[in-house]
Formats: sequence, structure tokens, C-alpha cells
Amino acid sequence: MGHVMSDFPKIQLLSPKRGMPPKHFADLSEEERIEALGELGLPKFRADQIARHYYGRFEADPSTMTDLPAAQRELVKDSLFPRLLTPVRKVETDNGDTTKTLWRLHDGILLESVLMRYPGRATLCISSQAGCGMACPFCATGQGGLDRNLSTAEIVDQVREAAAMMEAEGSRLTNVVFMGMGEPLANYNRVVSAVRQIVSPAPHGFGISQRNVTVSTVGLAPAIRKLADEGLSVTLAVSLHTPDDELRDELVPMNNRFTVQDVLDAARYYADQTGRRVSIEYALIRDINDHDFRADMLGQKLHDALGPLVHVNLIPLNPTPGSKWDASPRERQDEFVRRVIAQGVTCTVRDTKGQEIAAACGQLAADEKQAGEKAGA
Ligand code: SAH
Repeated sequence: MGHVMSDFPKIQLLSPKRGMPPKHFADLSEEERIEALGELGLPKFRADQIARHYYGRFEADPSTMTDLPAAQRELVKDSLFPRLLTPVRKVETDNGDTTKTLWRLHDGILLESVLMRYPGRATLCISSQAGCGMACPFCATGQGGLDRNLSTAEIVDQVREAAAMMEAEGSRLTNVVFMGMGEPLANYNRVVSAVRQIVSPAPHGFGISQRNVTVSTVGLAPAIRKLADEGLSVTLAVSLHTPDDELRDELVPMNNRFTVQDVLDAARYYADQTGRRVSIEYALIRDINDHDFRADMLGQKLHDALGPLVHVNLIPLNPTPGSKWDASPRERQDEFVRRVIAQGVTCTVRDTKGQEIAAACGQLAADEKQAGEKAGA
């Protein structure tokens, strides 16, 4: 019986070709758009017209762009507006203030973005890669490895979708943080191109204020320096998590390549070039990195390296499934904050939204992938 079965060729029901999606309008430069439209027989000014729909009205379906000649809407759609993000499901929490959306990409890969509404602002947490290769042991995404980089348009379209959602609510998307899945600086060119489209005024981009856009990194020092020279002034967040190399080698494996000092020097360069305060992310983990001496050392090192150009964001650890680690007790957290501040460095504790729907920091993860595969099947 067994060998009869094995005579059958293996039938693959699903063989998604994993890789970059087809080219999209948001992947192209101004000149490339004009050229692509020219090939469809459309004059130059149409590029601008379409951009106004996409960035100004958050519209990605040319069939609704009624100022385009009817005969060409389908052509434009087929060649420049492939569907990049297909919603699989949406989950809400915090009384509807937080929405996590699970998206399916063209090749079946699943991706999440999280929209958090606060009084007076709305922050979208986006992904820059499918999965992540940085392998930080406390982060759910880090456990599954890297699937692939996202294309520029896959990054930009997460923002467009959220902006459309906020507009439908009579409100506005004001902040974007690259704190979802992936290491943004490991997908450097696409992320920088996406950032330019997020901050450029319409019709070239969504016009979100640069100071309201945050790029968060494990600390790829050379890429931080490169970003500093881009002529942008977005907020840089560095995931430090401990001030000493010995522990950081474990918590953030990339530390084996770029040490705490390398990272802080690069952060200083970023602050000097952009005039922006650097944000230091520190997930507080009970009995791992929450000791008094680490708080003192953190404050000292940051004060020495960055002076007033730094702010510490403490994030109570969101325990991930299967991890033995937990958040620090409240008193420990308070003492840690007090000690960092005593060194002359500002320090606050991050409000963690979305916890009960696994939408909080570092929780965009593999178990969601499976759930999504079932829901989308
Ligand atoms: N790769 C980038 C961005 C992704 S994560 C980076 O590391 O900065 C965004 C932030 O969430 C990082 O500071 C990351 O260390 C943190 N984070 C990851 N897992 C977490 C967890 N379980 N609890 C709290 N913060 C976490």
C-alpha cells in the first residue's frame, strides 16, 4: 500500500512563487511612471493625476479614477496597480482604538499592520520585511526567520490603507512607525524610498510630518550613518535593550557585529546630522536586563554618547508564546526609570496597546501566520 502511494507523483496544491510582487505605481520614480504610462499611450500629465488619487485620496483602484479615459483605466490597473495587500481579517481591541489587520501578499505570505488611535493622533505600526532575520530571542517575529523583503509599494500601501481607514472615520493618520515585522535597515533602499513617499507632500506622498515617522533598528551602524546622510529628519529609534555588550550579544545578536559603542556612535552621528533626538528602545525583562547597575550604566553611556539628544522608551516586555521571560514588576520598572533620569537622560514608559490581540510590540508573529492561513483558505 505504502509503495503504491509513493508511485504517485507528489501533488502540490499550493506552489506559490515566493518573491517580489509585480511592479506597482509606488515602486516607480516620477520618470519611470511617465515612461510606463507612455507605453500605455497615456501622456505625461496622467502620472501626476494618478498620484493625486493614490497619495491624496488613498485610492489604489484605477477603475474609480473617473478623470482617466474610461478605455485606459483597466490598462492602468493591469499594468501599474496589481493588488498588493488582500485583507484576511481585522481584529479590534482597546474599545475599538486599536485595529490589527492581517494581510495576504501576492505570494501567500502573511503580514500584519497595527493602527492605534489616541486622542489627537493615530499611529500606524508597519512592517518592512516578511519575518525577520535578526533573531532577537524575546521577539516573536525573530523566532520565525526571514521570509523576504517587502517591496517599496508593499510598505507604502500599508500606509495608504490605514490613511483610507482613518479618513473614512473622519480623522487622519498622523504617525507611522517601522516597528512591525522586520529590520527596516536590512531592506534599506526600499524603506528609504517608502519613507520619502510617506513624508513628501501630496501629490508625491502622504505628507506625514517627518518627526512623526520613526524608523526602528537593532543598530546596523553603517546603515544608520547612511540614513543620516539622506537629507531626511525622521525619528531614529535604536533597540538597545541593555547597555553592556555581554548581555546584548544575546538579546540582540547583531551586537556581535556592531557593539553598543558602535551603535551609540552611529546614533550620535544621526543626531548631529539631523538635529533630532534619538529614541532608545529598552524592553524591560524581569531579572534579565532590569538591574540597578544596568539602569545606571545605561544612563551614563547615553549621557556620554548623546547628551541631551536622546530619550529612553521603556517597553514592558510582552511575553511571547513559549518564552520563559516576563515583564519586570512595577516597582522595578519605576526604580529603573528613576535611575536613568538621575543620570540626566529623559525616560518614559511606553503605553502598550493591542496586547490582548497579540498586536503589541514584537508580537506580530508566526502563530498569527497559521491562524491567517486557515482563515484565508
Ligand atoms: N527590527 C526593528 C524593528 C522591529 S520591533 C528593531 O528591532 O528595532 C520594534 C520594537 O519592539 C523593537 O524595539 C523591539 O526590540 C521591540 N520588541 C520586540 N519584541 C518585543 C517584546 N516581546 N516585548 C517588547 N518589545 C519588543
